[in-house]
Amino acid sequence: MNERSVRRLVIVGGGTAGWMAATALRRLLYPGLSIEVVESEDIGIIGVGEATIPPFRMHNALLGINERDFVCATQATFKLGIEFRDWGRLGDSYIHGFGKLGVDLDGQPFHQYWTRGAAAGFAADIGDYSFNVVAARQGRFMPTPSDAPKDTPLQDISYAYHFDAALYARFLRQFAESEGVRRLEGKVVDVRMNPESGFIEELILADGRVVAGDLFLDCTGFSGLLIEKHLHAGYEDWSDWLPCDRAWAVPCENVVPPTPYTRATARPAGWQWRIPLQHRVGNGHVFSSRDMSEDEAAAMLLANLEGAPLGEPKLIPFRGGKRRLSWVRNVVAIGLSGGFLEPLESTAIHLVQTSIAKLALLFPERDCSEALRNRYNAQMDEEFECVRDFLILHYCATERADTPFWNRCRTMEIPPSLKERLALFRDSARILLRSDELFTTVSWAQVMLGQHIEPRRYPPVIDRLSDAELKKFLDHVKSVISSCAAVLPPHEAFIARHCRASPLK
Ligand SMILES: Cc1cc2nc3c(=O)[nH]c(=O)nc-3n(C[C@H](O)[C@H](O)[C@H](O)COP(=O)(O)OP(=O)(O)OC[C@H]3O[C@@H](n4cnc5c(N)ncnc54)[C@H](O)[C@@H]3O)c2cc1C
Repeated sequence: MNERSVRRLVIVGGGTAGWMAATALRRLLYPGLSIEVVESEDIGIIGVGEATIPPFRMHNALLGINERDFVCATQATFKLGIEFRDWGRLGDSYIHGFGKLGVDLDGQPFHQYWTRGAAAGFAADIGDYSFNVVAARQGRFMPTPSDAPKDTPLQDISYAYHFDAALYARFLRQFAESEGVRRLEGKVVDVRMNPESGFIEELILADGRVVAGDLFLDCTGFSGLLIEKHLHAGYEDWSDWLPCDRAWAVPCENVVPPTPYTRATARPAGWQWRIPLQHRVGNGHVFSSRDMSEDEAAAMLLANLEGAPLGEPKLIPFRGGKRRLSWVRNVVAIGLSGGFLEPLESTAIHLVQTSIAKLALLFPERDCSEALRNRYNAQMDEEFECVRDFLILHYCATERADTPFWNRCRTMEIPPSLKERLALFRDSARILLRSDELFTTVSWAQVMLGQHIEPRRYPPVIDRLSDAELKKFLDHVKSVISSCAAVLPPHEAFIARHCRASPLK
């Protein structure tokens, strides 16, 4: 630390974003930096955000949190992927599984060999070549065993969690406080800015207390209290491509063993999520208010629950998009205050995590230099755009024309970046990614094929194998995956044996 260093980091908001930022930055930054979280119990947290993707596990690893403690404290279950029902066509079901797809050969991705095999009529369903998909379909789960046989899918099982968002915020808060993060209960009602620099210098709380800081993280959720209300960052609206603008959320009783995957079922004007936890199932109906009334959407959600609802549904309006600038002067927006992309691929918590990681790498001195801000903002633009395109893919690659909503999705104009990607895949099964993209070739291939985008051909190099060799290769991969998945215990049995949470009081 020197005389230019940030000494007081103030985080406004104690939801998932605020506490993830506090815990990670406490670990990643320097001693002598004070970290304070100001949150208001009266306002509360959004309380949804229960499905994650595999990079989430890095947060626990960074903090040195034991998996069993985390799972028990948050009533978590394990997640191998996401099942999509009725998206491409009514009656469809495919799973976007985490981890690998088949085995890449000679530098060529597996799905290109599969494309040739499918055209020749001897490839099985693409899901049969994903270990995660096969295990998920059978309801099995375990993490990588210490004695996993070499060169098998058991060596590197990729998974994430479903957890209770309110319990997670509480869990992280305890952890943060034990690491020296200070928490202030209070509602921020105003700020004091430096008249020359425009930097925020102090927060004014409702009871008159003043909280001074050098750098502020705006983790205030959709309200964007600092970044928008005071610094007017602006919002880029992506609702032309992501047509849903409301969600009803309601938990229900568990009536079947928890599946090791999230489910997203398409509905006439949106889709419904199902997230199994140990003590309940989280459900929500994400819909377009242009195509369905709020009452009708709530009724549809309640009619499609597996168990009795545990409370009244909660309505959450939103606008898909992002802040034009995530970092303005000495304020960085992290979490819902920075933007929102609907939870179709469980990416919001990941965007929180990646914002924190980028901020730690670009952590400024008190002047928050323009070069750092520009770099950070450009990186966040790219992160959001890549996720946006992947989400739009689920909507635009549909053959459904049975409702005005789906017909509009099917025929809508899509971003040029996505158009180019789809054209290349249709042409020759090629998928080109930007560097550092969250969703890999494996994810794009599974969703494109799952939504019936069929490549017309494959790269010529795939013809290096004879038909017999290709068939042998595909059969071998499928059989290894099938026998490895059979080794896993049922998901529920694994939880009962290793990490059963106590009932909530
Ligand atoms: C319908 C829906 C479903 C979702 N599903 C998923 C999912 O499955 N997976 C996933 O990764 N993400 C999901 N998300 C996103 C996820 O919920 C959020 O990204 C995550 O919870 C982070 O929220 P947050 O901390 O930014 O905001 P919040 O949880 O809203 O927290 C805001 C905090 O700011 C405080 N605050 C606000 N104003 C003030 C003030 N004036 N003074 C003091 N404190 C203040 C509040 O008290 C609160 O502590 C979903 C979101 C929605 C809307």
